[in-house]
Amino acid sequence: DQQRLNRLRKAPTRTRDGSEIALWVNAERPEDVSLAHAAGAVGVGLYRTEFLFLQGNTLPDEDEQYEAYAAIVRAMQGRPVTIRTLDVGADKADRTGLALANEANPALGLRGVRLSLTRPDVFTTQIRAILRAAAHGPVRVLVPMVTNAAEIKAVRKLFKPARKALENAGVEIGERVELGAMIEVPAAAITIDSILAEAEFVSIGTNDLAQYLLATDRNNDSVSQLYDPAHPALAFLIERVVTAAGAASRRVAVCGEMAGDPLHIERLLHLGVRELSMHPGALLQARRRIGEITLA
Ligand code: PEP
Ligand code: MG
Repeated sequence: DQQRLNRLRKAPTRTRDGSEIALWVNAERPEDVSLAHAAGAVGVGLYRTEFLFLQGNTLPDEDEQYEAYAAIVRAMQGRPVTIRTLDVGADKADRTGLALANEANPALGLRGVRLSLTRPDVFTTQIRAILRAAAHGPVRVLVPMVTNAAEIKAVRKLFKPARKALENAGVEIGERVELGAMIEVPAAAITIDSILAEAEFVSIGTNDLAQYLLATDRNNDSVSQLYDPAHPALAFLIERVVTAAGAASRRVAVCGEMAGDPLHIERLLHLGVRELSMHPGALLQARRRIGEITLA
């Protein structure tokens, strides 16, 4: 079976009736890049930057972040890398004191972009590192846990002076860095038109979107029977986001776990999804599954 899968490494990703599907990888570490190349991914659809912040007692400085981001951008050799800005909160134990300890409801608390916007100093360091890494190849920035369009505006506002300062200092930076929003809070999916007025692309984080929509902790085994990615309420929101993004000529991907799950891919394609971002190890199976699907 592995041999037959291996034959798909260089194959295009098409449904049985010829619709092209873009397969991206979710990456956490630079090592994931070689797997992405081997499987023929179009790029990195989600680069989680948390590991840099969770491994020590101090925050990673600009150069440390730059080295990590630049390494993955260079390794992708011209294919786009979607760098997600920091997504920690009280649920992910960081030892740097950045996230608040002891929030009563960490999933609903100061996490993702909410936390970043309360620490413009820390956020600007990450933004500068990303802009510098973008000198080495195409980079997109993805903002996690967006609830409203004002948050994207606020992030964009931090990019401007960061870019200026680097330019004035003669530091090489990427010319063009697209700014996108993760759609993982139900309110953002429901008000997607206002989000699309600010975001240049969107990516649907179904892990959290399902958690918040179904009021079901994604990590709590005692309610896992309710955590159902096939729930029609989730399908309703995904379809809404994909349709709105299409009408606004914005790219939209799904980057939650279900995007790489052969059991869910057909459902996603029928909802209009044409871009999937997944664990690199899931890509060949996903390509094979897609080849069996007829959309017309
Ligand atoms: C998601 O929520 O679907 C997602 C991709 O992000 P994470 O799993 O890192 O929260
Ligand atoms: Mg998420």
